[in-house]
Amino acid sequence: MNQNKKNKKLSFNQNVERMVEKAMKVLEIDPGTAAAIQSCNSILQVKFPVKIRGQIEMFTGWRAVHSNHRLPSKGGIRYAPVVNQDEVEALAALMTYKCAIVDVPFGGSKGGLLIDPSKYSRDELQQITRRFTLELCRKGFLSPFYRVPAPDMGTGQREMAWIADTYKHLFPEDINYTACVTGKPVEHGGIRGRVEATGRGVQYVVQEFFRNEDAVKRAGMSGGLDCKRAVIQGLGNVGFHAAKFLSEENGVKFICVIDWDGKVTNSDGINIQDLRNHWIKHKTFRGFSGGVFDEDSVSGLEMDCDLLIPAALESQITIENADRIKAKLIVEAANGPVTYEADKILLKKNVTILPDVYVNAGGVIVSYFEWIRNLSHIRFGRMQRRYEEVRGNSYLNALETLTGKTVPEHFKNDVVRGADELDLVRSGLDDSMRNAFNEIFTTLRDDDRIEDYRTAAFVIAIRKISRSYLDLGIY
Ligand code: NAD
Repeated sequence: MNQNKKNKKLSFNQNVERMVEKAMKVLEIDPGTAAAIQSCNSILQVKFPVKIRGQIEMFTGWRAVHSNHRLPSKGGIRYAPVVNQDEVEALAALMTYKCAIVDVPFGGSKGGLLIDPSKYSRDELQQITRRFTLELCRKGFLSPFYRVPAPDMGTGQREMAWIADTYKHLFPEDINYTACVTGKPVEHGGIRGRVEATGRGVQYVVQEFFRNEDAVKRAGMSGGLDCKRAVIQGLGNVGFHAAKFLSEENGVKFICVIDWDGKVTNSDGINIQDLRNHWIKHKTFRGFSGGVFDEDSVSGLEMDCDLLIPAALESQITIENADRIKAKLIVEAANGPVTYEADKILLKKNVTILPDVYVNAGGVIVSYFEWIRNLSHIRFGRMQRRYEEVRGNSYLNALETLTGKTVPEHFKNDVVRGADELDLVRSGLDDSMRNAFNEIFTTLRDDDRIEDYRTAAFVIAIRKISRSYLDLGIY
């Protein structure tokens, strides 16, 4: 092969395609079906003007719909100064496979707006978001039953509320308007637990991995999660929640946190909530008293640690630095943080990678719950919570009458309490993440042709998607 060609960097989309093709080979999928599964179904590019501070500014946005085999097609919208069609298509494809892996009955989609949100005021961002929403609606790329976005990098509850409200004004007769977007604030039709969902999902993945002794052994590790040393990149929505829960609830020690302007290190462990508070106040890690700050952020990825959690953006571990990675386990909380070529190097070094296409599915799982809640127009737990409480009290009374003993107060609360919405969301999320892990692990363990978690995850996804294509037929 020509050296130039060999050294040419693969785009994000090409990286995803290579990884998927590896799984297609295992399954021996015929080329026609493979092409149908892999192609991006439709892609919309819009350019629209918005008057900002008296001047007209042009904005460019994309929405890619990768698959329609299940509806609606689902995926976040990111606001970033670097975003393009290739990236949006890659992210949409990942959504298709992700939904299949965790049994969420959606197709894959993704959107992006080329913007640096930090340069605009809240009101300006609202104006821009509403205008972008208008474009998506007019072109048929936003609807409760067909195309449903969610938050991603640079967007959150606030933007989702503006999107839902704009849709409502355009389609006031649509009783299901809140279901046109997920990740909304609770008071505007959102669901409890959605903001933390992706990070919480990352925690559930890591917990399940360490519950599985066989998996831990295969990764060349031992013991449980307590006191494992971790490095995380990105203290945004996903990174913050994952690190907070893992450190506060599982005893994981974060020895390094990396963000765009530098890293903080502390071999005794960093207090994640304190660091986040510092970040919110100062928009930098500089000056944080709970660790040592330095500007060289990238080298943090190469620190000696047990767990490395990239939770910022794509292409962070590449052919350039893969050889220097010392972590035993990489948990891909971000989308596409490890490139295809880097993945091969890490595999040779026996580094275990839990792939993005599974690890960060918590967001879409809870979005699925939110969408169902919006269509059913009722909060989860509203019908049964008090009923469960009455049943719990009856059990306790029966127990106390039969034994002649009094149940201690702290047990009483656990037994009597009915499940509220947050309990149910967390339980559904945990169940989905555990089931998927066990399916991926079993596939990896039992099929000699599969050597890594990523291929196992894609094999499961492609098997399900191809079955849906072949059962229904392609016309
Ligand atoms: P976010 O915007 O809330 O946070 C991103 C963080 O990364 C910020 O702290 C930012 O400062 C940091 N960052 C940006 N550039 C960086 C750089 N060059 N080096 C180090 N840090 C950098 O975004 P998020 O929602 O947390 O998303 C993070 C990743 O997770 C993305 O890949 C996204 O696609 C993926 N993801 C997010 C969700 C979700 O529900 N939000 C769901 C699935 C996947």
